[in-house]
Amino acid sequence: MSRNKIGFAAVFAAALTLTACGQNAAPASPDASAPAPTTAAAPTPVKAGHAAVHWSYAADTGPEHWADLESEFETCKIGQAQSPINIDHTQIVESGDIKPIETHYAKLENATIVDNGHTIQVNAADKDSYMMLDGEKYTLLQFHFHHPSEHQIDGKNAEMELHLVHENAKGEKAVVGVLIHPGTANPVIEQLWSHLPDPANTDGETLNAPIDLLALLPQNLHAVHYEGSLTTPPCSEHVNWSVLEEPVEWSQAQIDLFAKRFPDNHRPVQNLGKRALNGDD
Ligand SMILES: [Zn+2]
Repeated sequence: MSRNKIGFAAVFAAALTLTACGQNAAPASPDASAPAPTTAAAPTPVKAGHAAVHWSYAADTGPEHWADLESEFETCKIGQAQSPINIDHTQIVESGDIKPIETHYAKLENATIVDNGHTIQVNAADKDSYMMLDGEKYTLLQFHFHHPSEHQIDGKNAEMELHLVHENAKGEKAVVGVLIHPGTANPVIEQLWSHLPDPANTDGETLNAPIDLLALLPQNLHAVHYEGSLTTPPCSEHVNWSVLEEPVEWSQAQIDLFAKRFPDNHRPVQNLGKRALNGDD
């Protein structure tokens, strides 16, 4: 292969990672790598099905193979601080240094809900909602769901998990994980599921009624904190995770509605390695 061809191949490979797999050209990932879409001059997205790196949760394109699908996904295999993990309560360190997260969530206006082929995701249209973690401000970009949960609590998965993805001014990510158990129906999910977009609708649907984010969270915001990664390709690290101790409830019908579309969109737990699990006070 000539030098030129190698150069072209490298550029082409890099371009591939900018496109999403499946039906939706943007955002590329349902997880923290995917900020809310902007209308700024972006390159024309590659049409779905063309040159997209297809990854999934099963078989040849499933989690065991993500790193083999694309060189920029190599962290999925060689990373040493990957997510999700099993949260073993015997390993939690109560250092007293970390304060619980503080949410400053406004009612989310004009958010869009999209089925990106990997999950149902709600993208924030404004930057009004944020949280404080360790004295640092992280603005909410989007939230999405996994079935079953990605994190385990003492070896057990919950029925589902909500991820609220935030970013600070330096571009560092912080994700809040909320475990979901069957029980009472959640009013916000009722609202969202009544606007579930068709998977073919890659732009998603704008939600005219404001979303009460606090209704998605439990009362108690104590969490287990650790340093991890995106749970979807490219599995980038240095993500600040806060997995809330108190779960929330959804009705079984609300869970079933998501599960029908996404029977399994969870990455299995990864090795904790030398990382610490920190409680807060
Ligand atoms: Zn997620």
